[in-house]
Amino acid sequence: MSVPSETSVVEAVAKGLFIGGKWVDAAGGRTFDVHDPATGEVLCAVADAAPADGMAALGAAVAAQESWAAHPPRERGEILRRAYEALTARSQELALLMTLEMGKPLAESRGEIAYAAEFFRWFAEEAVRIDGGYATAPNGVGRFLITKQPVGPSILITPWNFPMAMGTRKIGPAVAAGCTMVVKPAAQTPLCMLALAQILADAGLPEGVLNVVTTSDAGGVMEPVITDGRARKLSFTGSTAVGRKLLAQCADKVLRTSMELGGNAPFVVFDDADIDDAVDGAMQAKMRNIGEACTAANRFYIHRGVVEEFSRRLTQRMEALAIGRGTEDGVVVGPLIDDAAVTKVTGLVADAVERGARVLTGGDAIDGPGHFVRPTVLADVPVDARMAGEEIFGPVAPISVFDTEDEAIALANDTEYGLVSYLYTSDVKRALRVAERLDAGMIGLNQGIVSNPAAPFGGVKQSGLGREGGGVGIEEFLETKYIAVSL
Ligand code: NAP
Repeated sequence: MSVPSETSVVEAVAKGLFIGGKWVDAAGGRTFDVHDPATGEVLCAVADAAPADGMAALGAAVAAQESWAAHPPRERGEILRRAYEALTARSQELALLMTLEMGKPLAESRGEIAYAAEFFRWFAEEAVRIDGGYATAPNGVGRFLITKQPVGPSILITPWNFPMAMGTRKIGPAVAAGCTMVVKPAAQTPLCMLALAQILADAGLPEGVLNVVTTSDAGGVMEPVITDGRARKLSFTGSTAVGRKLLAQCADKVLRTSMELGGNAPFVVFDDADIDDAVDGAMQAKMRNIGEACTAANRFYIHRGVVEEFSRRLTQRMEALAIGRGTEDGVVVGPLIDDAAVTKVTGLVADAVERGARVLTGGDAIDGPGHFVRPTVLADVPVDARMAGEEIFGPVAPISVFDTEDEAIALANDTEYGLVSYLYTSDVKRALRVAERLDAGMIGLNQGIVSNPAAPFGGVKQSGLGREGGGVGIEEFLETKYIAVSL
């Protein structure tokens, strides 16, 4: 198979809005540019939707809902299965497209394509397993027939950090459940979603089921779509700040919501842990996606007895990482998404150092072009450092020390977030005791990656509402209806 060129993969993507099964221009023919974060250069321009375009997409989704809901579940599943196969077959070119618009190294992009495709395979299987029930009422005369129906037209809003997987994680269950949708990808990474729309159309998804709107004015375009009331569901992945705003917009017409929001994951290592495993897991939990992941380890709490060894070994591993454009061989640390991200990350490092943290390695940005920050390890990070309370979203590992189990749990839970916590110990009783007390929707027990399409992904506290993937993922797009019968 020939290796695709950068120009050809960008050229192959349709750059319009996908509405009612057709590629169309935005109102007034407006476009905005998409950049390569490793070079700052413009990759291409895509359609820049206006509010009227967003409403046209909603209209198409609403018009298609009834016939789509009546589509046999097996056919819905088979469309997803064909899309899974297409994603898998075209993994090389799609990975290159992802690296160009988002920056992550090619190997990670290939990993994301596989992860993204897996949501389609999983939900292809779930489409035919939507269950119901038949029960006897307590009075013995009544009967309950319980069935599940699609919630209806859905709005799906996705972030830039996993431009394909955050889309398939929502589109998969929506298609399987029989919902139509308006999808709005992040302005910085629209190309993967545009490619995905064509793949789903080629896989046989009927017109109007999936509509994609790219825009440089997310709030202006999406607020009328959300507040209109004909869409019955919003599934959002992004920051907690934007999630709060969208929840308020959903309140008026009481839309169902799924919110996958920010994280501030603690990574706790006890002195009985296998340190080889802990360092390996730390590298995964910290450096996957250049640290730009909601699941990224944001605070390392290490028992005093092992902190020196752990810090030394983590520092060695971070120093050995090759930094560069994600398309280059051997590169494992790509650029951050933009200059603002570099300013934020280096600002958080400066704040921690001012409060007494020590830089073990890195700590600085690398001169452009591109938005690079050197992999960084900080020791003695005080609890009042800003980075203890905020998502770093970059390649910085802040280490603090603890002495007791209670102290570790209190530190770990001292955050408004609750997406994932990582826990390293070889004592089974401690593992379960601590896992039960950590306020998080997911626990990485002696492992640095929790994401799996077959498992329920999601957070507690201000990390979100609802779960994606696993057996419960499809439920987010289904309503339960009961029919009362009397014999
Ligand atoms: P973001 O700024 O909240 O944006 C997410 C999406 O919302 C983008 O498509 C964005 O469009 C759109 N948006 C922004 N303002 C909006 C508004 N007023 N109305 C409607 N849509 C709006 O987040 P991000 O910077 O792209 O992504 C990083 C965040 O996502 C982090 O906090 C990360 O933790 C979180 N995340 C969470 C999960 C999870 O599963 N819990 C997974 C991945 C990422 P524009 O791009 O056009 O601004």
